[in-house]
Amino acid sequence: MTASLAEAREVLRRTFGHTDFRGLQGEVITEALAGRSALAVLPTGGGKSLCYQIPSMLRPGLGLVVSPLIALMTDQVAALQQSGVAAARLDSAIEPAERAETWRRVEAGELDLLYVSPEGLMAPHMMERLRRTPLALIAIDEAHCVSQWGHDFRPDYRTLGRLADLFPDVPRLAVTATADARTRDDIRAELRLEDALEFVASFARPELALFAERKSGPAQKRVLELVAERRGRSGVVYAGSRDGTERLAEALRQAGVDAQAYHAGLDKHVRANRLEAFLEAEDAVMVATIAFGMGVDKPDVRFVIHADPPGSIEAYWQEIGRAGRDGDPAEGITLYGASDLAWALRRIDSREMDDSVKQVQVRKVRQLYAMLEGAACRAAAVRRYFGEEGVEPCGQCDVCLSPPETEDATEAAQKALSAVHRMGGRFGRGRLVDHLLGKTKDPSDFEAGLTTFGIGQDRSAIAWRDLVDQLLFEGLLREDPNDNRPLIGLGDAEGVRAVYRGERRVAVRKAAPGAERKAPGRRRSSASDLALPPADQGLFEALRAWRREEAARQHVPPYVIFHDRTLAEIAQARPAAQRALGAISGVGEGKLARYGEAVLAVVRGFEG
Ligand code: ADP
Ligand code: ZN
Repeated sequence: MTASLAEAREVLRRTFGHTDFRGLQGEVITEALAGRSALAVLPTGGGKSLCYQIPSMLRPGLGLVVSPLIALMTDQVAALQQSGVAAARLDSAIEPAERAETWRRVEAGELDLLYVSPEGLMAPHMMERLRRTPLALIAIDEAHCVSQWGHDFRPDYRTLGRLADLFPDVPRLAVTATADARTRDDIRAELRLEDALEFVASFARPELALFAERKSGPAQKRVLELVAERRGRSGVVYAGSRDGTERLAEALRQAGVDAQAYHAGLDKHVRANRLEAFLEAEDAVMVATIAFGMGVDKPDVRFVIHADPPGSIEAYWQEIGRAGRDGDPAEGITLYGASDLAWALRRIDSREMDDSVKQVQVRKVRQLYAMLEGAACRAAAVRRYFGEEGVEPCGQCDVCLSPPETEDATEAAQKALSAVHRMGGRFGRGRLVDHLLGKTKDPSDFEAGLTTFGIGQDRSAIAWRDLVDQLLFEGLLREDPNDNRPLIGLGDAEGVRAVYRGERRVAVRKAAPGAERKAPGRRRSSASDLALPPADQGLFEALRAWRREEAARQHVPPYVIFHDRTLAEIAQARPAAQRALGAISGVGEGKLARYGEAVLAVVRGFEG
C-alpha cells in the first residue's frame, strides 16, 4: 500500500510542525513514496533532508542515509530525535555498546532512519546485516561527492554504484545542493540512476546579499573591519591556508571576537570541540579552511567571508550558502585579487590528476574570477552558470546596488601586452608598471631602447596595476610563480592576438575616486533581521535565554530545539495555551509535548 502525499503532509505538520511542502519537496517525496529512484538538486536550506526523512518514516522498512561527514550525521540525528523520530547513526565515533543497541533496534524494526558513512556502509559486516533488513529507501546525501567534476570528490562515493545491484528493489535518492549539468550526468552514471527522474530547483537564495571586493591591502585588516561591523552574529571566515586561519583567528580574538581556527591539521578532538562550541554559540566566528563546511548545518550563520576566494563557482555557492540556511537575511562577502588567481592555478597545476581534469578545474577557476570581476548581478551570474534561464537581477548584491561603470581600455591593454612581449616575460608586475611609466631605476640599454619604455605616462601607476590584474583575470597575461617572485608573461595566444588586432575589447571598471566598492557595514541585531517589532524583542530574548539553558543542559545546539524564526513567531503570537503554541511553524507534536509547558511559562512570566 503506497502512502499518499496527503499522509506525507500530515507527517510534515505533526512531526516537524510545518504547514506545507516547499519548492520541489512534494514532487521528490511523491517519487520516493512510489518506490522510484530520483536525483534532487535543491539549494541549501531548501529542505533536502525532509525529502528522504518523510518517505523513510512512511514506507515500510528502514531508511538508510549515506552521509559524508560525522558532523552532518550527528546534527541531523539530534534534530530528528528532538522531533521524536526514531533515528540513529553508525559511524566510527560510536561506542561498541551503543552500536550493539542500534543494531538491536534495526533488527527489531524499531528505527525509521539510520545514518551511515559510505565506507561504513560498504564494509562487509555492515552490508551483510543490512541485506537481511527490509529497507524503505537509500538516500545518498551530498551526491556531488561522487563526481570528479564536482568540487568535493570523494573516492569512497564511487563504491556506492554497487548499491544498484545489491538492493535492486530499494529506491535510491541522490540529493545535493550544487551540481552543474556535467556533475549531474556524472552522478546519474556513477550511481546508476539512469532511469531516475531529475528534480532541479532554482538556485536562487533571495535571503543572501552578495558582495565581492578586490583586495586593496592586507586581507586581515579588512576581515577585522567586516567582522567588527557584524558583532553579535555568527559567521564563518574562509581562508586559503591552515596558517592563515590560525593568524586570522588570533587577530580576531585580540579584537575581542569569539573566534576559533578550524582546519584538517588539527587534532580530531580539538576539531570536534571547536565545531561543537561554534554550533552551540549564537555569536561565534569560525575561521576555517574548506575542511570545514560540508555538513555544517548551523541555520543561523549570518555571514560568510572569503578572506581568500574559493576554487569554483560551485564551491563559492556551497560555501557562501552556509549563511542564512534558516531563510533569514544573511551576507556573503568575497575578497579576491590577482595573486589569489595565480595561486589557485598553480595549485591545480601541481596536483596529480589527468590533464583533462586539470583543464576543467582551470576553467572553473577562470569562470569564478570572471563572475567576481564581472559587471553582472552576482546572484544572476551564478544561477546562469548552473543552467537556469530567465534569471532576473537580485537587486541586493553590490553590482545591483551600484552598477560599476566601465571604460574601454583596449589601447592601454595593447601597450601592456606589447611591453610584456618585448621584455620576454622576465619581469614582475611592479617592474612592468615602472617600465610603462618610464620610471625603471637604472634601466639597461636594452630596456631603455624598447619602444614600450615610458609609453604609458598617461595613466597612473595604480591604474596600470589594476589593468595588469584585469588582464591576468582574463587570461591575457599569465603569472609564473618563480619561487614567490612572480614573473608576468603572455597568456592565451589567441586572445592576445585578438586584442592586438582590436577584435577583442578590454573593458575595465572605472574607478571613481573615493568610491571604492565595499560591502556595506551592518550593525543590526538578529532580532531586527527578523523584523520583530520592538515590543516583542524582550520576550524573544527571554525565549532565547531559555533555549540557551535548555541546550546547554542537553548538550545540543540551540537550533535543534527551536529556530530563531520559531521563537520570533512565538514572541509575536504570545500563545496562552498548548493549542495555540502548536499552530506555530516549527512546533511539531514531539516538541510541543517536550517543551510546551516550559515555553508557555516563559511567555506567561514575561511582563511587558
Ligand atoms: P538542506 O536542503 O540545506 O539540507 P534542510 O533539510 O536542513 O535543508 O532544511 C533547512 C531548514 O528548512 C530546516 O530548518 C527545516 O526545518 C526547514 N524546512 C524544511 N522544509 C520545510 C517546509 N516545508 N516548511 C518550512 N520549513 C521547512
Ligand atoms: Zn544582484
